[in-house]
Amino acid sequence: MTPIRLYLSNDTSSRAAGAEKLADAWRDRSEIQLIHTSSRGAFFLEPMVERDTPGGREAWFNVLPNDLPRIVAGVGGTKVAEIPFLQQQNRFTFANFGITEPLALDEYQSRGGFKGLAAAQSLSPDAIVEELRLSGLRGRGGAAFPVWKKWQVAQQTESKQKYVVANADEGDAGTYSDRMMMEGDPFRLIEGMMICARAIGATRGYLYCRYEYPAAARAMQFAIQKAREADLFDCDDYPFDLEVVIGAGSYVCGEETALLESLEGRRGVVLAKPPYPAVSGLYGKPTIVSNVLTFATLPNILANGGAWHASLGTEGSRGTMALQIGGRVKQPGLVEVPFGLTLRDVLDRFGGGMAPGARLKAVQVGGPLGSLFPESQLDIPICYDAFAGAGAILGHGGIVVYDDETSMVDLARHFMSFTADESCGKCTPCRVGSVRGREILERIQSGQGTAEDLILLSDLGETMKSASLCALGGRAPYPVLTAIEHFPEEFRLKPRG
Ligand code: SF4
Repeated sequence: MTPIRLYLSNDTSSRAAGAEKLADAWRDRSEIQLIHTSSRGAFFLEPMVERDTPGGREAWFNVLPNDLPRIVAGVGGTKVAEIPFLQQQNRFTFANFGITEPLALDEYQSRGGFKGLAAAQSLSPDAIVEELRLSGLRGRGGAAFPVWKKWQVAQQTESKQKYVVANADEGDAGTYSDRMMMEGDPFRLIEGMMICARAIGATRGYLYCRYEYPAAARAMQFAIQKAREADLFDCDDYPFDLEVVIGAGSYVCGEETALLESLEGRRGVVLAKPPYPAVSGLYGKPTIVSNVLTFATLPNILANGGAWHASLGTEGSRGTMALQIGGRVKQPGLVEVPFGLTLRDVLDRFGGGMAPGARLKAVQVGGPLGSLFPESQLDIPICYDAFAGAGAILGHGGIVVYDDETSMVDLARHFMSFTADESCGKCTPCRVGSVRGREILERIQSGQGTAEDLILLSDLGETMKSASLCALGGRAPYPVLTAIEHFPEEFRLKPRG
């Protein structure tokens, strides 16, 4: 009897949700052949097992080892195309997730892989940058800088040696899209980096991967080796090669100058800009440092044209955004949608509302430096301009939902403490300010806070915002000040004396 092909995600989050147990339990079952895919990002349904049917894939959710007989019998499955969480998304960058085997180069190619690179090879470097300008793509890592401008600077800077560096130091709490990309579709990232190399004339690339992502680093190393063996790096008549470098676990190494310091073997400390890395980066040479998702977005843009990308999203935020929903929601997971949906829409339609028994208190977008939104502000559209207008950041698209049992004072203290721990120490407002801020919040936490402490916290916040050298210190006051603004009753105060 021909074994039935069953598809099971091998993503770290899916394995944590039980996929690994299933794989172990079913390893020797002769009636099935287990194919390890990436995850579709519907982590609330994991472990999810799929099989082919004449009408497309069917899936079984939250599977236990003894569910195998009914899956083999084809009983109780749901059509994947009809899962509302997936049905309502527009997947371009994450189009292969749950479908292909991540490390199967032929599968990547058969689903359109390397078409973007082929298109780039048919264009002059100037024309590639022009396509990027038309696309309206902004960096997906946090700063949201127009990608083409950075590329143009690197391209026009004369140098025999140039570099492409993928920033895979994804450190924001509640974000995991970079990890998913590296584990789940590594050739897409490689292709994006090669397109960039072609545009600026770089011959060497590095993937700076955070220490906490061992499976992602392994997947990338394997995929790079496979690409090398398939001579993919030599396709452009000039040498290009790629290497994975593991970071030492510092949050601030997500900042490009600190990342480059670390890549060169020094302590990851932020440097003042200019010069910008596009002019003088790694070893003083022109370097493009971009986030993993930025590179992963490029193959589709080159394959389909900049105008296609610009047709998605909003005026100032073109394309789609990978949002990662976590915290006290019913349906945590990754969704890819065009910019412009409201935060409320995303939470209701994809997050599925609050977890059973939980009531919403606040939502934080953009990691530990992101502002807190109370329920009344959830109608903000998810796009760079609306968030900037609200004094918030979209960051890396992490959305964490807190319930009414969360203490805002504890949360504020946690974030300030995070900054104090992760500060690189280069500038005083962040190095000293974060420690003083933590002390004040600890006073408030212990019930000893005074009204003057809140004024002090506000002054300190303004100083950190305006005088810090990088976003870690500059953004650190936002979660604290928005917690005080929206939940003032929790900051128990007593008059001095
Ligand atoms: S803001 Fe903090 S992390 Fe950034 S340079 Fe200053 S001390 Fe370093």
